[in-house]
Amino acid sequence: MDVREIQSINLAKILKEPGSASADGIIREAIEAGEARFPLEGEAEWSVTVSSAGDEYWLSGEVHGTVMMECRRCLKPTPQRVDAYFQHLLEYHPEVEKLTLVENEDDEDVYHFGEPDLDLSFFIAQAFSLAMPYTALCNDACKGLCPVCGADLNVTDCGHVQADAVPGALAELGKFLDEV
Ligand SMILES: [Zn+2]
Ligand SMILES: [Zn+2]
Repeated sequence: MDVREIQSINLAKILKEPGSASADGIIREAIEAGEARFPLEGEAEWSVTVSSAGDEYWLSGEVHGTVMMECRRCLKPTPQRVDAYFQHLLEYHPEVEKLTLVENEDDEDVYHFGEPDLDLSFFIAQAFSLAMPYTALCNDACKGLCPVCGADLNVTDCGHVQADAVPGALAELGKFLDEV
């Protein structure tokens, strides 16, 4: 099948005459950009459109996938659905070697690019990471790891955690609430 796994869009045509260009593709295993790596469950899908707007270009796109995060209590890999959307202003400067963020005279963020074949991996990874939840929980009732031995309290009772510690605290809280 004709499925693209390269995260780029060729803008050669709209660099010559005004118009718009679109591209889409899939990402397997992980969304990566520089040092950042977000492991995926299944495939992520992305699509972008770039339209000319005077001397500039509007990039708008989206990426959808399921990222594997560590449960904040027990560290178990936990799938989290991510739907991300992004829009950026671009300017073409053939002398630019690397994608560069510049603030223009209207205080807008503009990305300068120098290759007609625009690499999208940065934009996709940035939008995806911004749309990710800060933390994940495998289950609302996750008991977490034992602070003494590190055992997963969802699967074993190592005996280190006092069974009455939490109910005691809750009873205190209940007393407090009654008085209010
Ligand atoms: Zn958990
Ligand atoms: Zn323990």
